[in-house]
Amino acid sequence: MDFRFTPRQIELKQRAIAWTEEMKQYELDCEMNNGLTDEQHDKVRQLIKNHGLAAINMPAEWGGAGLNTLEHAIVSEEVGKLTGALWDTMWRPANALKACTPAQREEYLIPEINGERRDAVAITEPEAGSDPQNIQTKAVKDGDSYIINGEKWFVTVGDAADFILLLASVDGAPTMFLVDKDLPGVSVKRTPRYTHTFVYEHPEFLFEDVRVGAEKILGEIGQGYELTRDWFVEERLMIAARTIGAAERATLLAADFAKERVQFGKPILDFQLIQRMLAQNTVDIMTNRVLTYQVAWEADQGMDRKLLNAKAAVIKLGASEASNRCVDNALQIFGGRGYMRENPVERLWRELRVDRIWEGTSEIQTVIIGNEISKRGAEGLLGYAGAVPQ
Ligand SMILES: Cc1cc2nc3c(=O)[nH]c(=O)nc-3n(C[C@H](O)[C@H](O)[C@H](O)COP(=O)(O)OP(=O)(O)OC[C@H]3O[C@@H](n4cnc5c(N)ncnc54)[C@H](O)[C@@H]3O)c2cc1C
Repeated sequence: MDFRFTPRQIELKQRAIAWTEEMKQYELDCEMNNGLTDEQHDKVRQLIKNHGLAAINMPAEWGGAGLNTLEHAIVSEEVGKLTGALWDTMWRPANALKACTPAQREEYLIPEINGERRDAVAITEPEAGSDPQNIQTKAVKDGDSYIINGEKWFVTVGDAADFILLLASVDGAPTMFLVDKDLPGVSVKRTPRYTHTFVYEHPEFLFEDVRVGAEKILGEIGQGYELTRDWFVEERLMIAARTIGAAERATLLAADFAKERVQFGKPILDFQLIQRMLAQNTVDIMTNRVLTYQVAWEADQGMDRKLLNAKAAVIKLGASEASNRCVDNALQIFGGRGYMRENPVERLWRELRVDRIWEGTSEIQTVIIGNEISKRGAEGLLGYAGAVPQ
């Protein structure tokens, strides 16, 4: 078994490190101004292109960077070290857009890959959070078109996006639509403030008698949950990678601080209670990082969809919970200085909290794992694809 990165993976990691380092100059501005100016966004867009990090999850034949899942995870781990969710400026079209027809691809996906358009994904509603089967948004057929009515919450990047992947029910069949934000009847109801500072907003949207043609259906009528699940799987894998990167940054900063900070006549790193927190973080980071690489690699080998869904839940749950413990320990090591917003550790502590909630809460990840075990047994989950003869 060879754990070394390939030369391509090393080069990719170096590029991700270089971009992340350049992006750190924007962290405090983002924190203080709750986002970046248009001019800063333009510069950031150029930086992403310069480092070849645009649309990393999209095939090269359509203009994306064409990374596989493991490569994608290697990049996510590095960029996840940024605060203010600046990693999200590095646009990655929702993978559900791979289901575009050739005409939809020209209109939506290719411009997004080129950085000219941006999507947001709207699944969650007031009455449908953990249970998306309860969506109330309806698309009713009217001649050749559909009339959409409903309300969507927490739409990440909803301010910067110009089109929305919207999950609606067509006569009870969950269906994904491509909805341009400037259509009559699409409006922002409210833009709440959240715990974290995020380079974009998460507005609530109203859809009132929004008329779209049948050519705006993504995939097929009834395929909406399938597309949603594929999106969840990719996002959950990348949450694992990103949060582990963030935990590593916080831990390294805390370890450096502990070496320098003197109390009771010696560096606080000499105290075993401080060492214990750093040791706990090290165990959390080392174990979750290697497991994330493993599952990302397994995903690239081609795995049964349901099993991959459950494996993605394992690492999303493991890494998001572990990294939250790590940033909390790191903040504690900084004492009062850890509670200042100018400290990246404080920002990561606030910002990682949502990773236990979005793309399915920790409880829902646990339910997915439990369901897999009860329906298909624990063998698949506990097994390792690399140990099966090819
Ligand atoms: C900042 C932010 C950004 C987001 N971005 C997006 C986005 O871009 N697009 C989008 O569609 N959504 C987005 N979401 C929504 C997110 O996915 C939901 O918040 C999440 O799925 C949980 O749904 P809920 O908030 O309605 O909580 P609920 O489903 O109401 O859950 C409340 C509590 O009950 C628990 N619970 C629910 N069901 C069970 C069960 N079966 N067993 C045990 N416990 C259970 C939950 O774990 C939780 O603790 C975002 C959320 C946030 C906070």
